[in-house]
Amino acid sequence: MSDRYVKVEIQVEEMKSLGEDAEKEGVDAEQQVPVCSPPACASPDPSGLTVAGRDASNTCRYRVKNRSKLGKDAKNSCGKHTSDVSLHGSVVSAHVGKNLNRVLGHERTLHVKGTGKILQGKLETNGNYANIQPAKNNQETRREDGFKLAKKRRPCVSTVTVDISKAKTSLEALKLSVKQLKWKEFPLGRRAPCDIYWHGVSFHDNENIVSGQVNKFPGMMEMLRKINLSRAVRTMQELFPEEYDFYPRSWILPEECQQFTTQIRMVKESDATLNPTFIVKPDGGSQGDGIYLIRDPSDLKLTVGTQAKQAVVQEYIQKPLLIDKLKFDIRLYVLLKSLEPLEIYIAKEGLTRFCTEPYQEPSQKNLSHVFMHLTNYSLNVHSGNFVHSDSQSTGSKRTLSSVLYRLAAKGVDIKKVWSDIIALVIKTAIAVVPELRVYYQSDIPPGKPGPTCFQILGFDILLMKNLKPVLLEVNSNPSMRIEHEQEVTPGVFEYVPSLVDEEVKVGVIRDTLRLMDPGRKKPSISQLRPGGLEHGEEIPMEAEPQERSLDEGALPSLCLKQVYPKYTKQFNYLRLVERIAALFIRFLGVKGNMRLGPTAFRTFIRTCKLSNSIFSMASVDILYIDITRRWAGTMPESREAGMGLQAFVEAFFHLAGRRFKSLPLREQVASLLELCEAQLESQTGGEERRSVSCSRAMPRAVKSQTLGHTNPLLDSPAPLRRASSQDYRLHQRLKPRTLRANVEN
Ligand code: ADP
Repeated sequence: MSDRYVKVEIQVEEMKSLGEDAEKEGVDAEQQVPVCSPPACASPDPSGLTVAGRDASNTCRYRVKNRSKLGKDAKNSCGKHTSDVSLHGSVVSAHVGKNLNRVLGHERTLHVKGTGKILQGKLETNGNYANIQPAKNNQETRREDGFKLAKKRRPCVSTVTVDISKAKTSLEALKLSVKQLKWKEFPLGRRAPCDIYWHGVSFHDNENIVSGQVNKFPGMMEMLRKINLSRAVRTMQELFPEEYDFYPRSWILPEECQQFTTQIRMVKESDATLNPTFIVKPDGGSQGDGIYLIRDPSDLKLTVGTQAKQAVVQEYIQKPLLIDKLKFDIRLYVLLKSLEPLEIYIAKEGLTRFCTEPYQEPSQKNLSHVFMHLTNYSLNVHSGNFVHSDSQSTGSKRTLSSVLYRLAAKGVDIKKVWSDIIALVIKTAIAVVPELRVYYQSDIPPGKPGPTCFQILGFDILLMKNLKPVLLEVNSNPSMRIEHEQEVTPGVFEYVPSLVDEEVKVGVIRDTLRLMDPGRKKPSISQLRPGGLEHGEEIPMEAEPQERSLDEGALPSLCLKQVYPKYTKQFNYLRLVERIAALFIRFLGVKGNMRLGPTAFRTFIRTCKLSNSIFSMASVDILYIDITRRWAGTMPESREAGMGLQAFVEAFFHLAGRRFKSLPLREQVASLLELCEAQLESQTGGEERRSVSCSRAMPRAVKSQTLGHTNPLLDSPAPLRRASSQDYRLHQRLKPRTLRANVEN
C-alpha cells in the first residue's frame, strides 16, 4: 500500500517501464474513528431472518475427544491442527479453556430449538411447494439446457430436490435451509438426478453429474489459494493500479524472495525511520495456520525440510480500525451465481471476528502475539478472553450490521464504507473470473452434458483506521458451521449452537437456494439493468421487498443483494483480462485443455495478424518458449506442459507493448484486444452474423447489457470506451463454435 515499494520496484525492474505511477493511499490518512458501547438492545437485523421450524426441546450437544477433526472450515479438510500457531519462530500454545467456567456458565443455559432433531432425524417435506413453471432459469444457456433434463423428469408441480450427501460441515445449516424452503433433501444422494447438489469441498465431490446445479465451480479452490489470488490481483494492479489498491502489496515465495529482500533493504536505506512489518502466509494455509509476522527479510523461513515453502509475504496493515481497542475483521458472504453472464450477490449480513488481546502496533516485542494480530475465530476461541455471546453486538463474534450500527452511532459514514466494500468485492471477482472460465471450459467443455455452477465465497476484509476496506483473502469454502466448540473438562469438547452463526449462515444458504431455484422467475430487465453505485444505496440493514418471489410465501426477504450486473456501469471497463481469456479459450483447441501449445500460439498470432517483418514467426516461437519456461519454473508441481492463462496474459501484455509503445499499459492492452477481436470478426463474419441473428437465444442478462439503455462508458477515455463498449458483444462472438451451437439449439 505504500508507494515506496512501487518506486523501488520500478528501480529494480528497469525492464518493465509500464508508465504507471501506481499511487497508493497512505495508511493513516485519517484519524481514528471513535467507537461507542453497543446499543442496549441489539437486534439490528431488520430482514427478520429468524430461524423457523426448530424444536425448542433440544440443545445441540455432543461430546468429542478429538477436537482437531472438528470445528474447521471445510477448506481445511486436510485436518491441520490449529491450536498451536507458529509466530515469528516461536510456538504459541493457545490457552484452551482458561476462562472456561465463565463461558460454560453462560452456554449451559442455552436452549436452542430443534438442532438435535434436525441433525439426526428425517426432514419432512411439503409437497405443496409448487413450481408452476419449472422451465428456464435466467442463467447461461447451459443452465437452461441442464434444466431441460430435470424438467422432463420432474412433473410440473414438484418440489425442488437437493442432494445433501456431500455437504460435510455445512450439513446442519443446509438442512435447516431446505426445511424452511419446504424442499426435499436426499441425505444419501439419489439415483435420479437432483436439481441441486451441495458439495462440502469442491466441484469434484460428486463425479458424473450431468444436469442440475452444483454449489462449487471447478478450479475455485485452486484459484483462491493465496498465491493464485495474489497473482490475479497483481495482474489487475498492473492494468488498474488505483482501482486495485485495496489489496496489500504482496510477494510470492520462493520466486520473489530476492526481489522482496532487495526492495525492503532499499526502502529502509532510503529512510531509516521506516520499519515496516510483513505477514507471511503459507500458500495452502487457512485459519491462521503457519502465519507469522516479520520485520526483516532475513526472518523469512524459506524451507520445510529440504522443500521450498510456497507462501505469500504481504505488507502488514499496521493501523486497523479498532473497536473496544480490539482488531477485528469482516467475513462477508458473496454468491457467485454465474460466470457468464457475470452475476454477483452480496449477503447483507455478515460476521465480524474480534481479536482477544488489545491491539498495539507491531513491535519486536509483540510480533508473536497471535491474539493481538490475527482475528481468526479458530485461534481466538482458544484464548481465555474469548467471549461467546448469543447477542449479535457483543462477544468475540458479532454480526456485521451490529458493528456498522455502532460505527454509524459514532458518526462514521457507513454508506461509504459499504459501497467501498461492494466495489472491492466486484473488482476481486473480476480479477479471478478469467481463470475460472478456463477451468470451467476444461471441466465442462461446451457441448458436453454437465451441471451449471454457483458458489458461496467468504471474503475476509479488514477496515483500516481510515475506514478503507482491505482484502485479506477469499475463502472458497467458508465455514458454514452453526455451532461452536466448548471444552467442558480438559480434552472433552462439546458443540453448542451458536445463534450468531445460525442467523447469518442459514440465511445465506437458504437465500442462495432461493436464487438458484430452477422454478424461480427470471429477474425483469429492469432488475438487470446496469445502475450506478452511489454511496448510501446499499446498506446491509435494508429489506429488499422487490426481490421477493410470489412462490416464496412467508419467507423473509432475500438477504442476498445483487451487485452485478447491477453495477456494470462502473466496473465493466475493468474486464480486460476476461477478454484475453476469451481469446485464450478460443485458441485452446482440444476440449478440456487448459494450456496452449506452441502451434496454437502460432495460430493465434497468425489469425490475429500480429507478426510482421519486424516481429517474425521465429520471434513468436522465442517469446512462447521464454514465457512458458519461466512460468513452468514458478509452478514446479504442475504436470501439464504448455502456456497457461497467466503466461498468455503476460505474452499478450508484451505484444501490446510492442505494438502500441506510446500508450499506457491498459490502453495498449485494450487496443490490442480490439485489433484481435476485429481480425477474428472479419474472418468469421458470415458465420458470426448468423450467430448474432440467433441472439434471441442469448440469455436475457447478456441481452440487456448488450443493448444497454444508456452507454455507461461515455465518460471514459476514448480507447477504453471503444474497447469496453464491445465487451459483451465480443464475448458472444468469441465463444467457441460448439458453445454457439448450444445457443442455437
Ligand atoms: P488464513 O487463511 O490462514 O486465515 P488470512 O490471510 O485470513 O489467512 O490471515 C489470517 C489473519 O491475519 C487475518 O484474519 C487477519 O487478522 C490477519 N492478517 C492477514 N493479512 C493481514 C495484513 N496484510 N495486514 C494485517 N493483518 C492481516
